[in-house]
Amino acid sequence: MPVPGQLIFAGPRGAKPPRHLADLTPAERRAAVTELGERPFRAGQLSTHYFAHLTDDPSTMTDIPVASRERLADALMPALLTVVRHLEADRGATRKTVWRLFDGATVESVLMRYPDRVTMCVSSQAGCGMNCPFCATGQAGLTRNMSAAEIVDQVVTGARWLRRDEVAGGRGRVSNVVFMGMGEPLANYRAVIGAVRRLTEPVPDGLGLSERNVTVSTVGLVPAMARLSAEGLHVTLAVSLHAPDDQLRDTLVPVNTRWKVAEVLDAARSYFEVTGRRVSIEYALIRDINDDAWRADLLGTELNRRGRGWVHVNPIPLNPTPGSRWTASDPAVERTFVARLRAHGIPTTVRDTRGREIDGACGQLAAATPA
Ligand code: SAH
Repeated sequence: MPVPGQLIFAGPRGAKPPRHLADLTPAERRAAVTELGERPFRAGQLSTHYFAHLTDDPSTMTDIPVASRERLADALMPALLTVVRHLEADRGATRKTVWRLFDGATVESVLMRYPDRVTMCVSSQAGCGMNCPFCATGQAGLTRNMSAAEIVDQVVTGARWLRRDEVAGGRGRVSNVVFMGMGEPLANYRAVIGAVRRLTEPVPDGLGLSERNVTVSTVGLVPAMARLSAEGLHVTLAVSLHAPDDQLRDTLVPVNTRWKVAEVLDAARSYFEVTGRRVSIEYALIRDINDDAWRADLLGTELNRRGRGWVHVNPIPLNPTPGSRWTASDPAVERTFVARLRAHGIPTTVRDTRGREIDGACGQLAAATPA
């Protein structure tokens, strides 16, 4: 059994997270097990414990001889995440977790129960380098990329709580994962793709989620969007647009100075062409900043210019972040914005603001005060 204290505090800044079987493909797991002097089929047993039984506790792995269990678990299932605290809202239906990683970095994830699904919003980086001025994560800068296993383990741990009836609402399972926690997923491309594969590979190689129930959200890193189209994964792509014109978007999403609105929308449209998956455009509505009716019209025009039926828009009432003078749009202004988009024939649904009061809603994840 790994000694948590050692693993969690021994890592100097800049060191890599310990290797975990969720970083590896099934073939790589067999190779790793063989290198440890064990028979290759042990890799499948370990994967079954982790992805099917949702356990990394060697004492439960009774199909593996005691001496081997400890060694295999030490080498391939080190503890990656430690709960710092939980915060609950919506009578427990929303639970934010602050995690500490092996090197002391902190990240957050949010588990949200709905009548028909359970969604986990996961972090892909500690911090974020994209510097969007309205986003809490953006204010602190990037600490480091997370490993594939650090990403996956957020979901596996949430799935374990649900299976063991440890969250309000009874037993359940994670059905959806959204990469909308801390970080820019496409800036940590390899680890995020690895994590998506682990989440969607059938049990016991992976967690067996449906690809369409996984959403990767991006500020619009155009080359990485093109690369993602070619992965053969049918995940949902969400693009954080927030403005249909370059002048404003340059300030709200600074990476827009590199890849412009037109290029981002073209890349989103080709993602739809290649994968057949309808793209989601995210638009945080910020009072008197980007909520003008003419911007809704311009957005509708720019989307329709690229075809019909390939996209929908998710306006998100801005969740105010500490120290910012910005706030959510007036409800009447929001209604007009939505009506204008719909008048252009664009399917539009306002995103709910689950977990606002625990700073667990979109753009509020900061993990600024590790306990
Ligand atoms: N870096 C990725 C994923 C993380 S954020 C991205 O930007 O897409 C998930 C969503 O929350 C993004 O659309 C982001 O723009 C939005 N968001 C950030 N700050 C917000 C805030 N204060 N209020 C509402 N939405 C916010």
